[in-house]
Amino acid sequence: MRSFTYARADSAADAIGRAGASGTAFVAGGTNLLDLMKADVLRPEGLVDISRLPLDRIEETAEGGLRLGALARNADTAYDERVQTRYPMLSKAILAGASAQLRNMATNGGNLLQRTRCYYFYDTATPCNKREPGSGCGAIGGVNRIHAILGASDQCIAVHPSDLCVALAALDAVVQVTGPEGERSIPFAEFHRLPGDRPEIDTTLQPGDLVTAIDLPARGFAEHSTYLKIRDRASYAFALVSVAAGLEMDGGTVREARLALGGVAHKPWRDPEAEAALVGKPATPDQFRAAARVLLRDAKGHEHNSFKIELAERAIVRALTEAAERKGAPRP
Ligand SMILES: Cc1cc2nc3c(=O)[nH]c(=O)nc-3n(C[C@H](O)[C@H](O)[C@H](O)COP(=O)(O)OP(=O)(O)OC[C@H]3O[C@@H](n4cnc5c(N)ncnc54)[C@H](O)[C@@H]3O)c2cc1C
Ligand code: SF4
Repeated sequence: MRSFTYARADSAADAIGRAGASGTAFVAGGTNLLDLMKADVLRPEGLVDISRLPLDRIEETAEGGLRLGALARNADTAYDERVQTRYPMLSKAILAGASAQLRNMATNGGNLLQRTRCYYFYDTATPCNKREPGSGCGAIGGVNRIHAILGASDQCIAVHPSDLCVALAALDAVVQVTGPEGERSIPFAEFHRLPGDRPEIDTTLQPGDLVTAIDLPARGFAEHSTYLKIRDRASYAFALVSVAAGLEMDGGTVREARLALGGVAHKPWRDPEAEAALVGKPATPDQFRAAARVLLRDAKGHEHNSFKIELAERAIVRALTEAAERKGAPRP
């Protein structure tokens, strides 16, 4: 039993002030943080409960998009009618994750900051540079079936486990943050980071930063988009590979493409060259495969996960084909 302090924040400023003490962590839905504490992976000295802060609304923005409160529940976000009709790939991505009970509890902010599902990160008897910097990486040379094929380092080959984040990456969402230094906006592509030689740091947040909202731009690619998740079981499993795809079409020709992959890297993976390779091209499986090969040109497998490279190529072709065919904004 490890003791820790608990305080409920009554405002964002109160939360940030309390989080200033080293060793404290915000707790929102608690579905990831409390599991990690029970497994003795994380040992915060204090919890700052932010779950009652008024950051749970979903509102229109002046730019014609939507602002998703950091404390809006994953389920409330997925079933919001505006999200379903204007951003169907996002709704579909959320509903592909976890279980109904978890989605009722989990918040949008917490989903962004959930930790990797690498087995060794959870197993305190094994080395892990993310859990204990400098201790080594159990996955390199170990069992690495679920690990990264893109953007990994010789310190860490973990992947980010979120589904929601993959759709947010494809949509060019913006994360709103308030911290000790004031407010700032972080483009989604800059929110998560690659492991490099500091795998213990998942994001560009600074200590004490509170995520307050996630802004969706006006364009949601509602007519031609999808989220495809490939996993070991049909439900209640993290992605081996997932694809968020959004297209603007001109007849049978691609005018603009968005493509983000989950389950392949330490962050949702976007590749401007792969997206550019689709522009002006007919929406055919051959063109989609060519773009997939651009995206996967530097992919590198490990002993147990090389299958992910072909799986990712096939998933990209399937997701783009489905997106190109979709008309209207079907409910997930
Ligand atoms: C069995 C199981 C299966 C799952 N399957 C999936 C899946 O398939 N796909 C998927 O995407 N997810 C899945 N999840 C993960 C789940 O979606 C996350 O646990 C959840 O989204 C985390 O949200 P939370 O509010 O509970 O976060 P918490 O556990 O409360 O917090 C998580 C982290 O975020 C920080 N934090 C929370 N809110 C903020 C904020 N506003 N500002 C700054 N920091 C903050 C906390 O300090 C903590 O470090 C699964 C979880 C479980 C337990
Ligand atoms: S892949 Fe990353 S999280 Fe997994 S054991 Fe290696 S350092 Fe730890």
